[in-house]
Amino acid sequence: MTDRTDFAAKARELDEADPLGDYPDRFLPTDDDIVAYFDGNSLGRPPAVSAERMDHFVRHQWRARLIRGWDDEWLDWPTAVGDRLGKAVLGAAPGQLVVADSTTVLLYKLARAALRARPERREILLDTDNFPTDRYVVEGIADEHGLTLRWIETDPDAGITPDQVANAIGPNTALAVFSHVAYRSGYLANAAAITRLAHETGALVLWDLSHSAGSVPVELDNWGVDFAVGCGYKYLNGGPGAPAFAYVNDRHQHALHQPVQGWMGHRHPFTMGPGHEPAPNIRSVLSGTPPILGMVPLLTGLELVEQAGINAIRAKSLLLSDFALELADAWLPPLGVRFASPREHSRRGGHITLCRGDFDVINEELRRRGVVPDFRAPDGIRIGLSPLSTRFTEVHTGMATLAEVAAERHG
Ligand SMILES: *Cc1c(COP(=O)(O)O)cnc(C)c1O
Repeated sequence: MTDRTDFAAKARELDEADPLGDYPDRFLPTDDDIVAYFDGNSLGRPPAVSAERMDHFVRHQWRARLIRGWDDEWLDWPTAVGDRLGKAVLGAAPGQLVVADSTTVLLYKLARAALRARPERREILLDTDNFPTDRYVVEGIADEHGLTLRWIETDPDAGITPDQVANAIGPNTALAVFSHVAYRSGYLANAAAITRLAHETGALVLWDLSHSAGSVPVELDNWGVDFAVGCGYKYLNGGPGAPAFAYVNDRHQHALHQPVQGWMGHRHPFTMGPGHEPAPNIRSVLSGTPPILGMVPLLTGLELVEQAGINAIRAKSLLLSDFALELADAWLPPLGVRFASPREHSRRGGHITLCRGDFDVINEELRRRGVVPDFRAPDGIRIGLSPLSTRFTEVHTGMATLAEVAAERHG
């Protein structure tokens, strides 16, 4: 056990040297029944000020402004918050992002809009290990419109590569839909190269940034991305069911037709006239009344990310996963645990996955002992390391408990 003692000291040193070391204190503390939270990539923890902000919003803005609040400022929130996201974490100039709906719904709307822009092409390209909702939505659209799905078989321990895309894409591909960071392995796709490849064949690309936003730097404008969507409740810490975001590059906005053409996406929502005329800008992605209440804590989460800066967040993210990997390498191979994520920094997102046949049972035991990772069928435990809210000592505690439980059940 001497190695464990050394690693505990190393964890304390890493915490002391951490330039973002005081950020975990800006979140509400967990109850004592949690000793290590490894699921900030699925649901980020609440920033401490979120509670006050929500209380303040109800007592002052909602109560006092009532319906006037819409004209005062709320109608502008979807694009105002979108612009801030674009600047802080997505590499997008203003006017290309809205905050609305859920990732699933926005994915549907943008995929349909993209397909409408390529009516002569009959194929959608996607990969077998994309997040379930992405696959289901695209399958539904293909079914609805008689389109063909072309599946790339991805290695679940890795992710989608430019070579695979080059081999599968062609003159009949209308749209490619991929995740930037794979939800299982944490593989970080080369979005710039894949987008370029797609454009060479005339296809459009829709990136799901749910596991990227607030964790790895994204450069939507520089990469020439057409469309993107992503979650507000993961690394952005916006709270359960926080609204999602959608990006439509400027060059597609003049002709964008998404299928849920509600009044809020109308050029003049309040003339209430006959027929739908889409707004000539990013607002055409909107459908109904924007989720203002949900944007209150999303803004608080975003503020923390803005203050810390995405490059510092990424630097800490890699140190956290390096440390978890070092502990895994030291303790877990003799226990039959396999590392199922990229080792190289350039291809690693914000989480890692470890596999063993009985990890479903081990996951239950870990939760009983206050360690909260995520189980991903068939045999993966996902260690999500949200940089702003996670300490190195917490990584050490959680990984040591994992090694302990894995050893107890081994052989
Ligand atoms: C978490 C996640 C989603 C979730 O979509 P919701 O509509 O918020 O349920 C979608 N895509 C990816 C890649 C995700 O990781």
